[in-house]
Amino acid sequence: MERKNFIKNDEDFTCEHCGHKVAGSGYTNHCSQCLYSKHVDNVPGDRMSPCGGLMAPVGVEYRDQTYSITHKCLKCGHAKKNKLADDDDFDRVIELSKQFLV
Ligand SMILES: [Zn+2]
Ligand SMILES: [Zn+2]
Repeated sequence: MERKNFIKNDEDFTCEHCGHKVAGSGYTNHCSQCLYSKHVDNVPGDRMSPCGGLMAPVGVEYRDQTYSITHKCLKCGHAKKNKLADDDDFDRVIELSKQFLV
């Protein structure tokens, strides 16, 4: 089987930062309330990273009419960009963008 770059994985999870129950859409693994993520992927969706650290939202980027959030792992320092999901708390994103958007 051909290995895809993005593996759909739509399990629900509970946010380890704020306790919000997140309904998995398959394409996001960050919390829609506090925007924290978890370092579980090497390739997005593969859940193959052994790290498991909490990933804090450290930046917001707006390009081509799309918001991206940068997450940084609090355990190992790994950073990666994620597209904003439709159900993300937009007020939080705006709040973040005031801090980080350049
Ligand atoms: Zn949360
Ligand atoms: Zn990590």
